[in-house]
Amino acid sequence: MLELNTSEIRFAIKAARQAALLVKDIQAEMVTDALTKDDRSPVTIADFAAQALVAHLLKSTFPEDVLVGEENAAVLRAEEGEQTLKIITKYIKTRIQKLTRSNVADLIDYGAKEPAKRFWTVDPIDGTKGFLRGEQYAVALALIENNQVQIGVLACPNLTDGSKLEIGGPGSLIVAQRGKGTWTTNLTGSLEFARLNVSDIEDPKQARFLRSYESGHTNVSQLDIIGEVMGVAAEPVRMDSQAKYGVLAAGGGDIIFRLISAKMPDYKEKIWDQAAGSIVCEEAGGKITDLDGNPLDFSQGRTLAKNRGVVASNGKLHQLALQAIRSAEA
Ligand code: AMP
Ligand code: MG
Repeated sequence: MLELNTSEIRFAIKAARQAALLVKDIQAEMVTDALTKDDRSPVTIADFAAQALVAHLLKSTFPEDVLVGEENAAVLRAEEGEQTLKIITKYIKTRIQKLTRSNVADLIDYGAKEPAKRFWTVDPIDGTKGFLRGEQYAVALALIENNQVQIGVLACPNLTDGSKLEIGGPGSLIVAQRGKGTWTTNLTGSLEFARLNVSDIEDPKQARFLRSYESGHTNVSQLDIIGEVMGVAAEPVRMDSQAKYGVLAAGGGDIIFRLISAKMPDYKEKIWDQAAGSIVCEEAGGKITDLDGNPLDFSQGRTLAKNRGVVASNGKLHQLALQAIRSAEA
């Protein structure tokens, strides 16, 4: 059973859930038809607000623990950030009373530390493009100790039962703890958890691929070759964020490919984009490595500097996927 009684798990669930509900509220108010195509202000505000909320909860629960988040408050402290900080503070005050703008900036910076022996890493909105499109996004939070991910939580407002894409549905909270499995429950409702297991598909022809929605985050022509080499019939499913790992863990897809974009050949994965997702995959019985078959190395600071891309699978298809990557890259 999921050991919901450890204080780390309780904190992780509470923080990811509360941050996701705050982000959802901001989205409902700010992402409207009036938004111009390039207006990223809702995502900026929600991103900062969610990081501040997670920082506040961590500070009061584990005051010794470090938080490594994607954002820092430097732009908000400058004159041109004043208006944005004001709006972020307005939203944060719906959850935490008695905060000044300066307190909010400090909370954001509380989550801008460097990795330590034990630390939490947060992506306050993973899949920002999905958030703006009203599709998939996730709040991703993970605990890393001695370079190994121990806990991962994905709060996915537009995913039901850990794998069903449902915009405006109850949302999913997906929780994994090292050695204890991957579990899901509703984002808003009960604390009844169901265990998730990856698919048992072994025949590559039946494999269902998952990829980034954004073509710039992967390599679409190589993915086509991989599909041909493996004889895959179905088109890859395009989805933003680590919600893909929830779908994989629940058996709703079989392989996630994060290939190297031709436009960014030196891109290194950020730890907050992979930490929670990787343990969600592994504890559901799946396998995750980089494109060369090496384990993800969380000892290198804020990025996976020693890895190249990511492939995550149900385990059974992993070797075939690695071979196909080699053919496509040759
Ligand atoms: P996804 O929604 O799966 O495409 O993942 C979103 C994450 O991809 C964002 O949080 C970015 O940090 C990350 N990202 C940005 N550029 C790249 C890139 N060139 N290759 C892979 N990931 C990227
Ligand atoms: Mg991200």
